[in-house]
Order: sequence, then C-alpha cells, then structure tokens
Amino acid sequence: MPLALNRSLLEADPEIAQAITDETRRLSDGLEMIASENYASRAVMEAAGSVMTNKYAEGYPGRRYYGGCEFVDVAERLAIERAKRLFGAEHVNVQPHSGAQANLAVFLATLRPGDTILGMDLSHGGHLTHGHPLNVSGMYFNVVTYGVDRETERLDYDALAQLAEKHRPKLIICGASAYPRQIDFARIGEIGRSVRARVLADIAHIAGLVAAGEHPSPIGCVDFVTTTTHKTLRGPRGGLVMCRAEDAKIIDRAVFPGVQGGPLMHIIAAKAVCFREALDANFIEYQRQVRKNAVALGETLSEAGFRLVTGGTDNHLILVDVFTKGITGKAAEQALERAGITVNKNTIPFDANPPLIGSGIRLGTPALTTRGMREDDLRYVGKLIVEALSDVDNAGRQEFIRRKVREMTQDFPLYA
Ligand code: PLP
Repeated sequence: MPLALNRSLLEADPEIAQAITDETRRLSDGLEMIASENYASRAVMEAAGSVMTNKYAEGYPGRRYYGGCEFVDVAERLAIERAKRLFGAEHVNVQPHSGAQANLAVFLATLRPGDTILGMDLSHGGHLTHGHPLNVSGMYFNVVTYGVDRETERLDYDALAQLAEKHRPKLIICGASAYPRQIDFARIGEIGRSVRARVLADIAHIAGLVAAGEHPSPIGCVDFVTTTTHKTLRGPRGGLVMCRAEDAKIIDRAVFPGVQGGPLMHIIAAKAVCFREALDANFIEYQRQVRKNAVALGETLSEAGFRLVTGGTDNHLILVDVFTKGITGKAAEQALERAGITVNKNTIPFDANPPLIGSGIRLGTPALTTRGMREDDLRYVGKLIVEALSDVDNAGRQEFIRRKVREMTQDFPLYA
C-alpha cells in the first residue's frame, strides 16, 4: 500500500504534531534569552521543510556524484554567492551540517593528529570544539589554552602572544560562546603570522553582528572563518566555512568527503534564504537593536546590584555573576525557567563553582529583538529577572512573574 504522502503531520503523527504545537506555545508565551538562539522566519522554515530534503547531492554544484541535481545546484550556488557577498569572503563552503562540523573540517584541512592547537578556555568563554578534552579537538590534538585577564575579564592578547611564541601551535582558534566584548581578530591574525600558525576565527555567536558591520570582521585578518547559521544570523541550524581562494580546495575536500557525506540540500536552501534576509537593510537595523537591547538589559541588572562580567557588553549577550548575590547559576536558571524566562547557567572566568553549578547566567537579546522588543522592553524584562532572582526559592513569586511574562509576550506575537 503506498504511503499517504499528502497526509498532514497531524494525521500522520499526532504525537509529534502535539509536541510541535506545545513548543510553538512555549516559544510564544515565554521570554527566550538563550544567547545562541533566535527565531527563523517562516520563509527559512519553508525552505528547510521542503522537498529538497529528498535529494542526494554529494559533491559540489556542477560536479556531483548523483544525477538530478540541477535545482539543488541552483540553491547551493545562490547560498554561496549570497554568503560571499554578505561577509566579503573569497570562498565559502555552505555544506557543514553544524558549527562543530565546520570546525572539524578546518582541523582536518590544517592539522595532523598530535599537532598543537591554541584555543580559548571553555571556562573563560570558549567553545567545546576549541580543544575540550571530551571533544575530538581535545582528543586528537595537543591543546594549549588561553583566556581572559583576571582583573579586566577581557581577552589577554599579550598572554596569548606569549603562549603562541612558546608553544608554536599549528592553529590558533579564536571566537567564543560566552564572551561579551569585541574580539580583536586583526591582532590575533598578526600573532598567528608572527609564529607561522594558521588562524581560525569561529564567529558562530556574532556572525549576524559581523554581517551587519556591528562587530569588526575577521575576514582578511585570519585564514579561516567558521560560523553557525542559526544564532544571531537567524537562519536554519547549520554551519559554514569561509577562506581565501587559495585554501578553497583543502576546505572543500575536508568538508566532503573529509567529514561529511551527502549535504542537507533543504538546509542549504534555507541558508540561502537566510543570507538574502541578512543582505536586506533591515538586518543592519535589527543587529543594532540587538546590541542596544543587550546594553539596556545589562544596565538594568547592574543598577539592581548584579555584577556583569567585564562590566558590560559590546555584543548580543551579557554574562551575569549571580554568585555575588549568593545564588548559583543553576539555581538562577531554574528560578527563571519557572518564571517563563529561558536562560542558561554559565561558568564565569576563574569560577569557584563546577560547570554543572556555575556562578553565572548568560543572557542574550537576539530572539527578543526578533520579536520586536526595544530598550524599554528589555529594561522591563531586566526588572522581571531581578524580581525572580530576589527569592529563588519562592515558587509563588515565580508564578506571579510568569503571568507578567505571558501578558508581555502577547504584545509581541510570534509566527502569527
Ligand atoms: N562554535 C561556537 C563558538 C559555538 O558557540 C557553537 C555552538 O554553540 C558552536 C561552535 C557549535 O555549533 P553547533 O551546535 O551547530 O555544532
């Protein structure tokens, strides 16, 4: 009996349909403040949910290992051309399934097992894929880490340069998951050249800001740039590698067949839609607002006596040291969850608490800004956060705040 291709999800799988309905309501009713999250547009989701999911297209446009690729070639060529324009890159590979895959491809292209890499310490704001012992990057390579200065909590470029001089890494990795300040990619690029190391800038978090000119771009300063497409860039979940034309071959070979098989053509089509959206002038306004909102939120929390790591923010996120108020990151995350505010606990530099407890919470503004919230709204959100954290064990207070959150979010409809 043929599968009923045209049944709706509700008919075909009511349990999954219900879970999606519930998730839509959760997104709509709550305040989504995880710094790495955003809301993709309906157009992006339409492409991601399209028939291009069916297609095998190993290889690259015009040189595939499968027939029938003429239309997915159109999608991939558009994605490449738009990403090049958006970031000013000479070469772009749009196939990585995720940010981790993009980084792995650069490692495969540039390193051999046992080589030395210099990456930012996870506990100072770096990412798992930059040399953590439980990640392939930490298992296959000799990892040296750099971090932030104890006083300023900002990247210590002099210390980084000294480590590079001493250890002579093959690859220096910069970019972060929980660092609220600008990263001086030009300086790190120079450090790399001075020790003949190649440099990878992982802009997963700040890609949208970079595309909009709201953070200095690493393009032209470093050898390789990787990113995810689903954070500030507001596209489908996925990854991207950019490099100079002279490195195009080693990157393309590393992505396929190096670390991946068939590309996700529906996601590549959705990336193309995302890049088109990001090339629109509105996107620059959006990214500016993301930053202004982060500043307004940080000021509100500071005024209430919370210590911000580095004292503030230059980008889309703030890292709040809640432990100075006698709360652990874990307790803060849970209290806020009960209040309908989704955040994540985070270690802060030189944290006295273990990672599963943490002394901080990380708060981002990309998703709320997509909903249309502005500085005044973020100040109000900041006050709700302060209220929820004023007594983390008071479930009644959190329920009260949850109602206020629900009231507020009704004014900023999602996927209407
Ligand atoms: N690089 C950085 C800096 C990240 O923050 C992340 C994800 O949070 C990644 C890489 C990994 O991306 P993905 O989850 O798509 O593998």
